[in-house]
Amino acid sequence: MNSELRIAVVGAGLGGIVVGALLQQRGHDVRIYEQAPAFARLGAGINLGPNVMKVMRAIGVERRLLDTGLRAKTWLSRDWDTGEVTFEYVMGDVAEARFGACYMVIHRGDFHEILIEAVSPGTIEFGRQMTELEQNGSVVRLGFEDGSREDADIVIGADGINSRAREILLGPELAKYTGYVAHRSIIPASLLGDFKPADITKWWSDDAHGDTHIVVYYLDRHYQEIYFVTGVPEPDWDFGLSYVDADLDELRSAFTGFHPEVQHLLEICPAATKWPLLDRDPLPLWSQGRIVLLGDACHPMKPHMGQGAAVAIEDAAILVRCLERNGADFATAFKLYENSRKDRASLIQEHSRRNKWLRYPMDPDWVFRYDAMEEKLG
Ligand code: FAD
Repeated sequence: MNSELRIAVVGAGLGGIVVGALLQQRGHDVRIYEQAPAFARLGAGINLGPNVMKVMRAIGVERRLLDTGLRAKTWLSRDWDTGEVTFEYVMGDVAEARFGACYMVIHRGDFHEILIEAVSPGTIEFGRQMTELEQNGSVVRLGFEDGSREDADIVIGADGINSRAREILLGPELAKYTGYVAHRSIIPASLLGDFKPADITKWWSDDAHGDTHIVVYYLDRHYQEIYFVTGVPEPDWDFGLSYVDADLDELRSAFTGFHPEVQHLLEICPAATKWPLLDRDPLPLWSQGRIVLLGDACHPMKPHMGQGAAVAIEDAAILVRCLERNGADFATAFKLYENSRKDRASLIQEHSRRNKWLRYPMDPDWVFRYDAMEEKLG
């Protein structure tokens, strides 16, 4: 690959940092422009399947992640009221031997912080909100909110669901509210008392209960913090694009009739946030000229498989490999990237919408075995 490339990444989210780290490993001059004024430690957890961990190995942070998060031994699916186990998926060594990497859960803030260590100091420029992109054939000019400008050979739009890069390529269109919210909370495990949940549990209801569900997991290898994330129907979202503090009474009443273990967890919960779940139809294009999109900027999804960031990270690895193969022929590289990724991203989007992943015995092979560092391109 041409080592003289100046590559601008818009957005220091999970996909943006990983693509930056992989490009730097290959000798490129990478800048990551992030609109936030500083790194913010979001109060949430995240699942990292074996498909993510293989890319983490490639950027050199797998060990750090394992020293911090929890290498999950089991995933339990349970019925909302009786607590009957509908599927126990054994992970741990079994999954590792089968998929070539482990399944882990971790605090999202820890994950983000560890990822930042994978890029050279100073690569991320905070407080730089990209507002304009202009291509003139041999260069892309980025314009920022403060009036400053930068030039790059290519621009990677990794700027999330409300992507300005997507808007510049395809025109304005708000993401769609799905009619569901997610509550998130991190609770000190000491508040649990004698009750010790499995490493990861998902409690499932049915159509009659609006498909309301709650996923509960630990965030660290010492079992000190436990996290939950819900999916609860709520017809309207009038709070703008981001999250609000949750009303705990309203949250608890959404889980009336759920198993006592769920009730207990919600009782001890000191505070929670509430997020809109947003979605988009598939985009007609993922790139144009010297601008290419990845992650939520081109295929946001409901979080019900815990794979949104995973797909962004897989995109990052495949995009870098396509650039490596095609040198300065960006059009061919970006087409190969889209061809390599579109079917898989769309399939995971579709399964995430259905919300059935791991509810009953199934083989998760097609998701977890994928190795973005080795997968055949095209
Ligand atoms: P983001 O992580 O959203 O990053 C985009 C970045 O771009 C942000 O830092 C933003 O500030 C910056 N930005 C935006 N606009 C501009 C601009 N104009 N200029 C400069 N910077 C800009 N995924 C999983 O894999 N596992 C899970 O367990 C999981 N759980 C989830 C739970 C919930 C409730 C939700 C809502 C999502 C969950 N996801 C999960 C999905 C995951 O969070 C996203 O898919 C993932 O963060 C997408 O990564 P990204 O890099 O594409 O975008």
